Amino acid sequence: MYYRKKSLEEVPLEDTAIWSCPTEGCKGWIRDNFAFENQPTCHLCHTPMVSGTRMLPLIDNTNKDMKALKKGTMIS
Ligand SMILES: [Zn+2]
Repeated sequence: MYYRKKSLEEVPLEDTAIWSCPTEGCKGWIRDNFAFENQPTCHLCHTPMVSGTRMLPLIDNTNKDMKALKKGTMIS
C-alpha cells in the first residue's frame, strides 16, 4: 500500500462515515466506503467495530460513483 504525500496541497476535510475499533488504545478504523454491509471487525484486534464519523481529507475520485452504485441497481 502506498501513501502519497500531499502535504503541499490543502486538502479539504469532510465529516466522513467510518467504522472504528472501540478497544481502548487500538487505532483500528476503516472508511465506511470500504466496509462490508455487515459489521466489520477490527483488522488489528478482531473486535466488532462501531460506526461513527471522523474528519478526513475529502477523496474526490471514485467515491461518488461507488455511492451511486450502492444506491442504484446491483449489477452483479
Ligand atoms: Zn482494534
